[in-house]
Amino acid sequence: MTNAKGYAAHSAESPLESYAFERRELRGDDVAIDILYCGVCHSDLHFARDDWGMAAYPVVPGHEIVGRVTAVGAEVSHYQEGDLVGVGCMVDSCRHCQACDDGLEQYCAEGFTMTYGSEDRHDGTLTQGGYSDKVVVSERFVLRMPEGIDLKSAAPLLCAGITTYSPLKHYGVKPGHKVGVIGMGGLGHMGVKLAKALGAEVTLFTRSQGKVDEARSNGADHVVVSTDDDQMAAVAETFDFMLDTVPNQHDLNPYLQSLKYDGTHILVGQLQPLEPAVMGANLIFRRRVLAGSLIGGIPETQEVLDFCAEKGITCDVEMIDIQDINQAWERMQKGDVRYRFVIDMASLKDAD
Ligand SMILES: [Zn+2]
Ligand SMILES: [Zn+2]
Repeated sequence: MTNAKGYAAHSAESPLESYAFERRELRGDDVAIDILYCGVCHSDLHFARDDWGMAAYPVVPGHEIVGRVTAVGAEVSHYQEGDLVGVGCMVDSCRHCQACDDGLEQYCAEGFTMTYGSEDRHDGTLTQGGYSDKVVVSERFVLRMPEGIDLKSAAPLLCAGITTYSPLKHYGVKPGHKVGVIGMGGLGHMGVKLAKALGAEVTLFTRSQGKVDEARSNGADHVVVSTDDDQMAAVAETFDFMLDTVPNQHDLNPYLQSLKYDGTHILVGQLQPLEPAVMGANLIFRRRVLAGSLIGGIPETQEVLDFCAEKGITCDVEMIDIQDINQAWERMQKGDVRYRFVIDMASLKDAD
């Protein structure tokens, strides 16, 4: 075992605080990584606050990890010491079901092992995430950071990036398509950039008039203020796809009505019951599809990293020290971040 240092929550109410723990000895297929940067995802907060009723404590959150390989197990063939690598939301899966064979480990029939808060499939210990100085991960779940990519702003591609890229790719978004992106947080602003890079005409839906200029500067071709009935009426039956990144309950009906016939509304944020109720007529009368999508598989995560490096796409980030994490979570809850906090893990060296 190796001594590790991180920041953990010990209950749903307690703030994150400095925490000493251990990382496992390398298994044959393991890669040991010194963490350089870790993005701060809304899921970190939801999990630690037990908003989803699945928390396990203590939890070291963080699943947008970028670091440098320090050692590899005997059977590792793809990575060596010194490589710059990433780890996203998954660190293991059953590796033999249809989904795993298809490289869609996020849909593993036995459930994938989350980067934090899951039971390790081999030794039963609790997995711990990237708000820490090091991590040990099986090479199958390690990504290669492309040459020349800005590591700080690439970290959020490992969750926010792949979560929006995967459905856009799956549904074949391409030039000629009109895509609506709902919400402009960490996910939404990546959705705009990626849909644009895939050639689509992109409209950002925001509740606030104040975000209109900001959305344009992020590359949206058009902006619709969703609380303005006239603006919503003007875009009825317009879109091929709606990428819905809003994590809270909201009325889908006006957005469904904004889709053309055969249009697809894709949920990537909201896990709760769909309320207010979805009108069947909004689907049936135009053969519209209501769909969901969860992060993306490991091969596709490598693809989005390479795609973003090639296209020069990065996430807009605000760097913080680990000591500022509780304040960052408070700000994130208020939507006061443009658009992702990323922890500079060098700051952990100064932590108690
Ligand atoms: Zn995430
Ligand atoms: Zn599986």
